[in-house]
Amino acid sequence: MSFWPLFPKSDYVKNLELHAHLNGSLSRSTLKALGCLDNTIGTYQTVETNLDDVFSLFQVAHKATRTIDNLLYATRKVIEEFADDNVIYLELRTTPRSEEGMSTEEYIETVVKAVRSVGSGKILVKLLLSLDRRRSMEKQEEVLDLIIGYKDKYPDLIKGVDLSGDPSKGAFFKQVFEKARKHGLYTAIHCAEVKNDEEVKDIIEFKPDRLGHGTFIHPQYGGSLNIWEVYKQKEIPVECCLTSNVICKTSKSYKQHHVQEWIKESLPFCLSTDDKGVFNTSLSKEFQVVQENFNLTQEELWKISKNSVEYSFASPEEKQFLIFELEQWRNKNIPNR
Ligand code: 5GP
Repeated sequence: MSFWPLFPKSDYVKNLELHAHLNGSLSRSTLKALGCLDNTIGTYQTVETNLDDVFSLFQVAHKATRTIDNLLYATRKVIEEFADDNVIYLELRTTPRSEEGMSTEEYIETVVKAVRSVGSGKILVKLLLSLDRRRSMEKQEEVLDLIIGYKDKYPDLIKGVDLSGDPSKGAFFKQVFEKARKHGLYTAIHCAEVKNDEEVKDIIEFKPDRLGHGTFIHPQYGGSLNIWEVYKQKEIPVECCLTSNVICKTSKSYKQHHVQEWIKESLPFCLSTDDKGVFNTSLSKEFQVVQENFNLTQEELWKISKNSVEYSFASPEEKQFLIFELEQWRNKNIPNR
């Protein structure tokens, strides 16, 4: 039986969310508040779809956040909703973009303003800015230069660069990420969401700070023995997003999700929501799913959260604080371990 529902909501395990896309995280109520009609959100909150459908669904959220006011409201809401789900540390990622009446710079400043305006007592928030893999190398580098400027302006807030966007299109350009690293940005790269052995090998060999999804790495899940061996030498933490993968059908089911190989071999991973709005999930639901499907104890679940502190892009002092918070929770809620 699941222990999760036995806890009142306020006692759910305190958690860290390391892989959440801003626009994919907009809840139904936020979309409605921003004027989206029921029937458009109806398809947005789809139960079963595939990667192609999901990428067209992001446009609903992008329409909703095309003004500064709406973007400010939406970002605050996303942060508050994570905090309500007992997330104490959030790394939110978003792709800087321009709209009529909002420049790319204003987009970034608005997201920064939203983060700053949410009370820091309850949740610590950091930002990763995303490069869209569908863009040319020149365009990705242009956006990176902008991000480097903002990292220098907000060094305690803007921590890293993500590579995302439709995995069946575009490319990973190593020199772009080498430049990001040279400028002190952490790197989190979506990797192996679809089978693409050559690119997967290049990314793993680059050794980003974290990998998103990591679905087609292990030979039993469409990867290859060679890639798996290279991965195991590098031990890069993987951000596992179970509900997202099952809904997009890149994983056959929760029970057949590749996270179990990371659990069996004690390899580094964290649990994440990816797009909590699109996939109608929450971080506590992701933990519940893992607990139910792989029979983990409370202590083992707690360790997943604790390990996430190490994989996060928080400062050493912030990490110490997060560990303290998690240990307090554990002493109160898992006394007989
Ligand atoms: P935004 O960056 O606009 O705040 O959030 C939505 C964007 O994140 C999407 O347009 C897409 O580029 C990226 N994204 C969201 N979920 C996924 C995912 O599962 N895989 C990849 N590769 N990109 C994603």
